[in-house]
Order: sequence, then structure tokens, then C-alpha cells
Amino acid sequence: MRHLLTGTTAARGMALGRARLVQPNRHLVDKRPLAEEEIETELANLHRALEAARLELRELREKLHGALACEVSEFIDTHSLLLDDQELLRGLDDLVRIGHYRPGAALKKQRDRLVAVFEAMDDPYLRSRKEDIDQVINRVISALQRQTSVEERKLAARVGEILIADTIAPADMAHLVGNGLLGVVASSGSAYSHSAILARSLDLPMLVGVRDALSTIHDDDLILLDTERGEVVVHPTAQDLALYRAKQREAAQEGRRLATLANAPTRTLDKVDIRLLANAEMPADIAMARARGADGVGLYRTEFLFLRHKGLPSEDEQFIAYRDLVLGMGGLPVTIRTLDLGADKADAAGLVLRGEDNPALGVRGVRLSLRYPAVFTTQIRAILRAACYGPVRVLVPMVTQPDELIAVRTLFKLARQDLKRENIDLPEKLALGAMIEVPAAAINVRALLEHADFLAIGTNDLAQYVLAADRGNDGLENIYNPLQPALLRLISHVIGAGRRAKKPVSLCGEIGGDVNFTALLLALGLHEFSMHPSQLLHVRDRLATLDHGALRRLAPHLMRAHTHEQVEALLTQLAGETTT
Ligand code: PEP
Ligand code: MG
Repeated sequence: MRHLLTGTTAARGMALGRARLVQPNRHLVDKRPLAEEEIETELANLHRALEAARLELRELREKLHGALACEVSEFIDTHSLLLDDQELLRGLDDLVRIGHYRPGAALKKQRDRLVAVFEAMDDPYLRSRKEDIDQVINRVISALQRQTSVEERKLAARVGEILIADTIAPADMAHLVGNGLLGVVASSGSAYSHSAILARSLDLPMLVGVRDALSTIHDDDLILLDTERGEVVVHPTAQDLALYRAKQREAAQEGRRLATLANAPTRTLDKVDIRLLANAEMPADIAMARARGADGVGLYRTEFLFLRHKGLPSEDEQFIAYRDLVLGMGGLPVTIRTLDLGADKADAAGLVLRGEDNPALGVRGVRLSLRYPAVFTTQIRAILRAACYGPVRVLVPMVTQPDELIAVRTLFKLARQDLKRENIDLPEKLALGAMIEVPAAAINVRALLEHADFLAIGTNDLAQYVLAADRGNDGLENIYNPLQPALLRLISHVIGAGRRAKKPVSLCGEIGGDVNFTALLLALGLHEFSMHPSQLLHVRDRLATLDHGALRRLAPHLMRAHTHEQVEALLTQLAGETTT
């Protein structure tokens, strides 16, 4: 029977395919006691999982190259030793054999016991080792569930399928790319999450916040994903399918109209020139950025290279990716952002190690890079080598205070000296910029401008930190709203400070490419917009209808607004007056 579910559009597009469900509770453990005759089989399962976890750690160690090996081998060794700890193993066997616990439940029980022992210790260092116990046992539980759960196996073949899940991690999405997945329906999550950004980059239609998706859709149901309407049609009728085909034709037509703008200048109605830059992660993004007349790359998120890579990419691998990006842009400026791992961007290489209680406020972005200077230097060397092939700027994520920029500059200087000693070609001095996405950085931006050559405002994170609202949490949509006056005042403050310091300021958060925010950003004084290349023509089209002068005159009124509703009302009121 046809039925309809609704959600929020995270990545545009339409898709028709078979549903494939991935249940979120696949990590639950079975607590029913074992029957006597099951004990030997389950013990064997437990030991197979332990062996798989040992093998994973060995493989991880082998994948690590020089720099990372030094920094994380201690952690791997600790975990490997724990997996061979006789007391731990005996305890597990006893729980299964005598206590009749199933392996998953035994692992959890043993973990709780050991964590309690570590927590009771006086020595803070020893106390902190409880995290290792936690991580190592979780690794075995995952290995165990890979043997028994069908959920993981379901992720293998994706041709013609639309994934229905609670959420999907960027690393998993990267893994599914190329396997024929047509779209994603998530029952939670938000349009500003990293998964949503990745989906847009992959051109993978995605709806989030589709509440009942997991309970009302079944494996192999035919579904039509219509992100324009924010709908999932389960068991579409012939009429739905006809509408789908008509929309596809319409989209192709609109695409042809927009394509005529590819070589047009980017100007407002009153002839103010605006720079449009691309947020490019994949080779296809770079091609699209060129084809749609981007003025350069405003944000290249290097972490996606690490997320796709399974291990840690070597200096040469990074060099080739960055060089190809530079070559691909054919002499246009390219902004390479240094690694922004941490929070929800966990990597497969094991760099983001510790189970932080609050990872969004933890060691992420430049904080993580500065923790691992050898890994960071590998990236810096690759960037310096690539910068010999065209204009490159370096952007540092999650900057909070000037000393971070000073430390990054020092590492660049040292890397230059090393490369020079090795007789490797060096580029001219590279511009070093700061992402403004931490409130302290926005408020104290003048201090950062003494050390930064340019700024890029990251509104995705700036909004989450200013509003104390998780960018991935769809329950906070009324708070996480880019029209919030507090956020607008900070953006305006940063743009003004950059203008006074005569240093470029761009904005590369998702609102930069959303035509619903183009007028607002012009009003705040923005002249450089960076966005996913699929949005370039839409934004150029919108800019041509907007009167820059009138919008700038609106800015003081916007700054006086008390609520996001008032901001919205001001913009709506002006829309009629300033657009063609
Ligand atoms: C941002 O925070 O706005 C940004 C562009 O960075 P990311 O989305 O990669 O965190
Ligand atoms: Mg960010």
C-alpha cells in the first residue's frame, strides 16, 4: 500500500530504488543465558572474535607509516597486550562456561568489572587507562557481531538500493560510494551534519529526520525519494512514477538554462562583482567547479582523503591528491584546509583515538593536528610540494587563539627547511588563513588577523558553538537556525574586521551555497561565497537579481533584530522591493 513519509532535505535529487534497512540496534547484546549445549560453540565464537580483533590491530599497525607509527604505536601495543591478558581471557571464559553468559554479554560484564577497578585507582594516569579497556572490548564486540549480525553484511551490495538507517557516519557513506547506492533516508540527523555535506558532494539524494522510516519501511520495498518535496513515497503508484519522470525532464531543462550561466560574470543587479569559490572534495567536484566558472577553490576538506583511505595516506599519496587538485583548477587559487578530524569526522586510521566525553568540544581540527606534529608535518610537506604547481592558500580549521596559528606557521617553516635540505622544489610563501568557527575566534578576530592572511567563516560549526546546538541534531532545528541574530552579529563583526584589516574574508559553511541565504550574506557585506560546485550556478543566478546597495542599507536593521523570526520577516519584506 502506498504511503508517504516526510523529512528534511539534506542533499538534493530524486531516486527510485529498493529499500535496504540498517537497524540501529545491531550492537545490542543478547542477555539470555546460554543453554549447556551452546557453551562450546559460543566459546569458539568468542575466541574467533578475539583473534579477529588481534588481527585488526596487527593490520592497523602495518598500515601506519613512519610518523603515525611513532605516535600511535603505544596505543596499539597497549590494546594488543590487553587482548592477550590471561586474566582477562580467563575471566571471559569463566563467564561463558560457568556463568552461562553469551559472549557479547560476557565482554560487557568483564568490561564493567575492569573499568570499576581502574576507576577506583588513585593514580590519574592508571585511571585514564579505563578508556583502553573500553575501546579494546568494543573492538571485540564489533568483531563478534560481524560474525553473527546480518546488518554489516547488508552493507556490501548497494546497486539499485536506497539506504534506510537511523544515521550514517561519513566514513560509512564514503565506503558505500561507488557500490551503486542511490540515496539515503535517515530517521534522525540534520542537513548541516558532515554526512549531509558528504552526500551533497557525492550527489547522493538524502533526506534526514524521516521519523518512522525504520518502523514502516521494509527491506526491498520500492521507494521513491523526492527531496524537493522532502518526501519518501513507499510503494509509489503509476501516477507517482509518471510525476517522477516529468520532474526529471523539468530538472534537465532547468539544468540547461542554468548551464548558460557557466561563463557569465558573477554580479549583483547593481553591478557589484562577487567571487564564487567551490568547496571541492572529490575529483568530480573539481571538474564541476571549473565547468561552472568558479573563481577558485575556497575549501578543500583534506579529511575526506583520510576518511576514504582506510589507513593514513602517505606524504606521496597526499601530494598527488593536492597536486591534482591544483592542476585541475588550471591556475585558479586553491584553498587547502589542513586536517579537520575529530567530533563526527572519525577516521579509519585510528588518529581520533580516545573516547572523548564531548568530542565536538574536544581534540579536533588544528588541536588534533598539533597533538600529532609528525602526522601534521607529513601533510604540510605534501601541501608545500603541491603548491609548486599553482596558487595555494592554507586554511586552518577550528582555530581558537593566535598561538595555534603561530604553531602552524612554525611547522610550515620547519618543513620548508627540511625540504630545502632534501633539494625538493619549494613554492613562494603561502597565505595562511584561519577558519572562523569557534565563537572566541570570531569575537577576538582582530587578534587572529595579526597572524592570518585571510579568513574563512565556517558557519556550520560557528552556529553550533554559538547556539550550543549540535549541528547533527534534528531536534534542535528551532535553535540551530542560521538566521539567529547572535550568529549574524558575529558574521558581520568578522567581515567588518577583515575589511578594515584589508584581508579577504570568505564564507564556506552550507549557507554560502543556499540561495535562501544569499541576500542575507550580501547584506552582511560578504563578497566571497564558497559552496559545493553544484550550487554555483544557482547562487550566480540569484545574485543577478539582488540589489547590493539596498541590502547593505538593510544591515543595521538586521543587526537590531531580536529573533530569527524578525530577521526572516525583514528579509521577506525586502525581497519584494529589491529583486527584479
Ligand atoms: C563549517 O564548519 O562551516 C565548515 C565549513 O567546516 P566543516 O563543515 O567541514 O566542519
Ligand atoms: Mg567546521
